[in-house]
Amino acid sequence: MPLPKAELHLHIEGTLEPELAFELAARNGVELPYADTEDLSRAYRFEDLQSFLNLYYELMAVLRTERDFEDLADAYLARAAAQGVRHAEIFFDPQAHLARGVAMGTVVDGLWRALGRSEETHGVSTRLIMCFLRDESAESALETLRLARPYLDRITGVGLDSAEVGHPPVKFREVYEAAAALGLRRVAHAGEEGPPEYITEALDVLGVERVDHGLRCMEDPALVERLVRERVPLTLCPLSNVRLRAVDVLSAHPLPAMLDAGLLCTVNSDDPAYFGGYAGDNFDAVRSALGLSEERLRELARNSFVASFLEDDEERRARYLAEVEAYEFG
Ligand SMILES: [Zn+2]
Repeated sequence: MPLPKAELHLHIEGTLEPELAFELAARNGVELPYADTEDLSRAYRFEDLQSFLNLYYELMAVLRTERDFEDLADAYLARAAAQGVRHAEIFFDPQAHLARGVAMGTVVDGLWRALGRSEETHGVSTRLIMCFLRDESAESALETLRLARPYLDRITGVGLDSAEVGHPPVKFREVYEAAAALGLRRVAHAGEEGPPEYITEALDVLGVERVDHGLRCMEDPALVERLVRERVPLTLCPLSNVRLRAVDVLSAHPLPAMLDAGLLCTVNSDDPAYFGGYAGDNFDAVRSALGLSEERLRELARNSFVASFLEDDEERRARYLAEVEAYEFG
């Protein structure tokens, strides 16, 4: 039995496996520029952020109907459950779909068909977090939030993702203020390829409660001290960091130093179909590459539930935390 954990940094579009991409392409009559799944799998072996993003957006063309989004989420939840994920807070990128003529309702209703029954089907509780693409304009983000208004009963929070450099958090001040006024929780990618200042800005200007990645905080001791003092969770994605070259090799990942510093770190999969593994695979990888002890792994699992947006269901959080404490490593 795998260690129980919550996954807090997961882009649902990044869970599209080559097999499902071909299945959806056939169902929707979409022509993919790849001969077969093997050919496509080769394309998944990109080596930098831009080539990843190009492929990521290209493959989204196969997602067209509610059923496509339902199948995508269902496939992720099945894989996550098999790796010990008990709770998943799932990102989605509406702008990437709106731009292709797929309506907000198609995306949210489709995802919800899987998420709404996930506890029964997979034993995984879920939350949905709507991300803004930071390389799009602030006006586009505001329009996206406006389009999401009818669906806010199913959306827990907002996030900020895609290409970081040159798109500082301050650009999205207004939409984050509007999201806060609507009672939405706030997170943002910061300090992955962008500088530590983006982390500070995300906290101070956007009011984020959790920082996605946040790896580069380690370049600024005063920032580390603040993150520790304020108990700001960081959602790290080790295998993603290697694939996108944020770190050279997994054995050089700063996770152990970050835990030693007292940071509230969690381990997540980011875009697992593209980065070589789901949540449990990331745990296994850091365990062997970094030699993490069982108590460190338990701490990471505990942190994932502490950092999750379960304030509306503390009973559930307590139950998950008890599962973590009772877990016996095999
Ligand atoms: Zn991400």
